[in-house]
Amino acid sequence: MKVLVVGGAGYIGSVCAELLLDEDHEVTVFDNLSEGHRRALDPRAKFIHGELADRHQIEAALYSTRADAVMHFAASALVAESMRDPSKYFRNNISNGLNLLDAMVATHVERIVFSSTCAIFGPPDRLPIDETATARPINPYGESKLAFEKILRWYAQIYDLKFVSLRYFNAAGASEKLGEDHRPETHLIPSVLKAALGQKPHVEIYGTDYETPDGTCIRDYIHIVDLARAHILALNATKSEFYNLGTGGGTSVREVINSCLKITGRKIEIVEKPRRPGDPPRLIASSEKIRKELGWRPQFQSVDAIIDSSWKWHQKFPSGYQD
Ligand code: UDP
Repeated sequence: MKVLVVGGAGYIGSVCAELLLDEDHEVTVFDNLSEGHRRALDPRAKFIHGELADRHQIEAALYSTRADAVMHFAASALVAESMRDPSKYFRNNISNGLNLLDAMVATHVERIVFSSTCAIFGPPDRLPIDETATARPINPYGESKLAFEKILRWYAQIYDLKFVSLRYFNAAGASEKLGEDHRPETHLIPSVLKAALGQKPHVEIYGTDYETPDGTCIRDYIHIVDLARAHILALNATKSEFYNLGTGGGTSVREVINSCLKITGRKIEIVEKPRRPGDPPRLIASSEKIRKELGWRPQFQSVDAIIDSSWKWHQKFPSGYQD
């Protein structure tokens, strides 16, 4: 297939582009490099340096590449930032996303795989979270992704668009060449590994008084390559659907730090801080639906294996994608 990977220079998009290319798809990356990195671009892919905020640029990209399908990763994705700057989230994640959908309708591109998130759910009534759980986001990030999911459903009905929306739980880990490098880094695993490398003075734990066994938040960490494999399966899906994507395992912040201590063998200073606004205490996925319907099977089951891949990448590229 000819696939336009929108946001393909970012963490998740770049690994998906790599896997698509490994499987002989023709890939064009469309990215404004606001979060993504030129060095995360696979040399086998074509690159369009473009703005999703500009409807004409995305339409021209779809037209010139004659895309069969789109993967849409270009979004703002930080819970805490969304609580400080909601407008950025509604604009980038809804309004710019609409430009993409309208451009797809105009150029008759019918298939899209969308990067959604477990943040659409908010604190769940029961665990693990399956697709029947009520979506009650508690931050603008989750709200913006939920709004786009609703828009996708309407576009499928009205324009016959085929979509698969993948609600990622916590993406982590690295492939051989591609890893996580956000500026600034706010995510837990790369932050702890940067502390291990001496690039951060310490690691902060946001909240130690949650109602969890060790008082810290629990998340379901899923390896980036397993996540990318789900996108390839989604590309060939026969019906429009929403799927939750995690391993079904829950790991607390303290457990992540302990695993990093074990794997790196380095000293890591820990500072306990208050809760971070917008954080639900526990998020664990049920991925039964995507396993059953698309045959997805995660290959990295343990958080140790995920962190190990991330640590290898950080050691190989201690300055990340920086020149
Ligand atoms: N977290 C933390 N210290 C950090 C970064 C994150 O304690 O330096 C916590 C955060 O509050 C959340 C979990 O780790 O409970 C995962 O956060 P991350 O930002 O990696 O992903 P999110 O769940 O927000 O998508």
